[in-house]
Amino acid sequence: MARSEVTIDLAALRANVRRLSTLAAPAELWAVVKADGYGHGAVDCGRAALDAGATTLCVATVGEALELRAQLPEPRLLVLGPTGAADVATAREARLELTVGDGEVPVDVPVHLKLDTGMGRWGTRVLGEVPANVVGLMTHFATSDTDLDFARGQLTRFLEATEAHAGLTRHTANSAATLRLPEARLDAVRCGIALYGISPFGTDAADDGLTPVLGWRSELASVRNLAPGQSTGYGRRFVATEETWIGTVPVGYADGFRRGLTGTRVLVAGEACEVVGTVSMDAFAVRLPGKLPVGTEVTLVGAGVPLEAHARVLGTIAYELATGLRANPARTRRLVQGLSPEGGLSRSSPARGASNVRTGPDSVGGSP
Ligand SMILES: *Cc1c(COP(=O)(O)O)cnc(C)c1O
Repeated sequence: MARSEVTIDLAALRANVRRLSTLAAPAELWAVVKADGYGHGAVDCGRAALDAGATTLCVATVGEALELRAQLPEPRLLVLGPTGAADVATAREARLELTVGDGEVPVDVPVHLKLDTGMGRWGTRVLGEVPANVVGLMTHFATSDTDLDFARGQLTRFLEATEAHAGLTRHTANSAATLRLPEARLDAVRCGIALYGISPFGTDAADDGLTPVLGWRSELASVRNLAPGQSTGYGRRFVATEETWIGTVPVGYADGFRRGLTGTRVLVAGEACEVVGTVSMDAFAVRLPGKLPVGTEVTLVGAGVPLEAHARVLGTIAYELATGLRANPARTRRLVQGLSPEGGLSRSSPARGASNVRTGPDSVGGSP
């Protein structure tokens, strides 16, 4: 029995891509699938995004791009992160496009020049000479999810700096800007989080017409009754004050169910139940409404339990939770509804250094 199962709904992903494409048109939609598709599987999600109208896939590193290229010979692949001189030959051979901020612009490889208009991280402050192999000009917003005035200022600085090069592909918008700052859509938008049906604003993704792609479920592996004074978990952080039914779910922080999630809610047989006590490495406890059988389904993420709600409990963003779902030989990832040409099962995931989400040979679907 698998300890838990992650499902990736590619039909939902395609619907999100179509929604964002329609919104962004005539700008192209570029799908950001870095960090293994935000933990959703870069190859499967990238392929589905292309099917649904995305025209380019974006990743952070050359390593990620090479993993994609091995499976996807056709599409444009853009590396958004910084690269070194040692990467150029590899990039050329794999037909990658590179992002260059400061420093020398490599030759014989398509380059996107990145301007720092306010993020203060990568990129050049002043646009100098634009060599012939530069195909795009870009910038990245620091606050498109929280402060649109600052983002508008960044956009203004970008448009002024790049005015003379309006013939090149100019791109600035991430998901939040695509949704809230129409004037930033320009020639292409680079959407990541929204593809996966997660709100960049930490609110309900449905408000923006997006559908969550990732579901995560497990089951009650053990059920017990605590008498007053009895406790569950490390540190005796939860001590029953009355007779309490406790279910143990075989998922923990090593799977990406973070240790700070005490107090969040999951669904047990469809009913919201509180996570109590200390989340341990491979298990956590839920307070049950009453005695329930071992094997009762537990929804960790899905309808009624969005990733965003867990992120609020942790004081973080859903991006961090999604990318932190972890390898476990007995945790499966299954694609549903939208089958990929290979038959729809995700059997491997691209490495980012070491891959952090793996699917084992037992990933051939099936309930936990
Ligand atoms: C990650 C990233 C994006 C996508 O951001 P989302 O908020 O996930 O849409 C866009 N552009 C750049 C440069 C990025 O690094």
